[in-house]
Amino acid sequence: MKKLILFDIDGTLIDTFGAGLSAIKLATEEVFEQPSPDFDIAGNTHSSLVTQVFQHFGVAQDAEATEAFYSVYLQKLDQNMSAVDYKGAVLEGVVDLLEMLRYREDIELSLLTGNLARGAELKLQKHGLLQYFSFGAFGDDHYDRNSLGPIALKRAELATGFPFKPKNTLIIGDTKRDVLCARALGCKILAVGSGMSTTKELESYGADMVLSGLSDTLHAYKYITGESIDACGTHVTPTEDL
Ligand SMILES: [Mg+2]
Repeated sequence: MKKLILFDIDGTLIDTFGAGLSAIKLATEEVFEQPSPDFDIAGNTHSSLVTQVFQHFGVAQDAEATEAFYSVYLQKLDQNMSAVDYKGAVLEGVVDLLEMLRYREDIELSLLTGNLARGAELKLQKHGLLQYFSFGAFGDDHYDRNSLGPIALKRAELATGFPFKPKNTLIIGDTKRDVLCARALGCKILAVGSGMSTTKELESYGADMVLSGLSDTLHAYKYITGESIDACGTHVTPTEDL
């Protein structure tokens, strides 16, 4: 059975050290010429954050104004991540895990993120991860993260021709909203403590599996594939459905 793995980006694959949040605040200040409000960014879609900004300033939000805001945000994001003192990085274990999974015929790698599609592309490109992903569901597909699961499944089917169902889908993410999104779709979630929540919090939200991060690569690989490998990369318990 082919499996669809839906990766969150921030706190799961990469840490931008606040470059994303800073870009939203800088865009807010430039577009509205006033100090930015604070945001509850963890796991929220960027389209809902932008709507919060418009509401905060009591400004009507039409498609044109939204697009104008997005383009200032994307420009600020690019500038932040291109700065000489940018500290962002791919999280430990991520490249190893993606390399272990990318050529498996029973695994399809994809994205489920609150980032705008162009923001996700920028972040992944900047960190050398774009090569692993060609489709996904994004924060500008819907303002409610819980509605992104069915979109992700549809995109995966369009891209691969395989009709993925929630039972052969796994979300990997770092916040309560990733857990709730998996519950809304009816799929399992591997939650990682490398982002905005502690492993204890993620357990209390009811995640199916909690790891400190994808730095625990062998356990992540085992949970995703159902196979064990030892530290030398040798398979030790191949499953019967391979
Ligand atoms: Mg995240």
